[in-house]
Amino acid sequence: MKILVATGNQHKFKEITEILPRRTKTGEDIEYLSLANIGGLKLPPENGSTLEENAEVKAVYAAKESGLPTVSDDTGMEVEFLDGRPGVHTARYAGENADADDNNRKLLNELEGLFLGKRAARFRTVACLATPQGKVVHFEGSLDGFIGFGYRGENGFGYDPLFIVAGTNKTLAEMTDTEKNAISHRGQAFKKLAEHLTVLSK
Ligand code: IMP
Repeated sequence: MKILVATGNQHKFKEITEILPRRTKTGEDIEYLSLANIGGLKLPPENGSTLEENAEVKAVYAAKESGLPTVSDDTGMEVEFLDGRPGVHTARYAGENADADDNNRKLLNELEGLFLGKRAARFRTVACLATPQGKVVHFEGSLDGFIGFGYRGENGFGYDPLFIVAGTNKTLAEMTDTEKNAISHRGQAFKKLAEHLTVLSK
């Protein structure tokens, strides 16, 4: 069985496919394809007002275009001191063409002078599975932490070097992929979704 992972981000593709199973419960092999593997399909813009909406738009569109069951996700970071911002605007926090460094620097500036207890944040992921026939399911995962005072660690992507995981003294970028997947927002959402992949093969 082939499953499309609707992301153009290779880091996310790797994280997601490390979490999802290699085989269905009936023993059939599962092959995961990226957007690049199907000719570089372009996804619709993420301009929904919720993570659920954005994840669903991507999965439904890509499933229809490719004819394959498709998984997608949308992630937001909610900072308590900023009343839940950037939330659904996490990717474009520092502007339309902002990269991870621009976003991280803006966040550090906004929280300047605050002690750790005032820097609480949460990652939230909605993972979506859509079939070409129009069946859609969603699953959610979240991870609590704090925004650190500067970059720490080399792994991961996006806000990982700033995000200190609650109950640890490590940023996500100081964790291995395996450590991150075991606890992360995306890990939790896709572990729930993994249970449903078996349904597709029946
Ligand atoms: P997306 O919805 O997955 O595209 O993510 C939205 C924004 O959150 C992007 O700026 C990503 O870099 C960032 N982001 C998503 N997941 C993670 C993560 O696991 N760690 C750090 N940043 C993330």
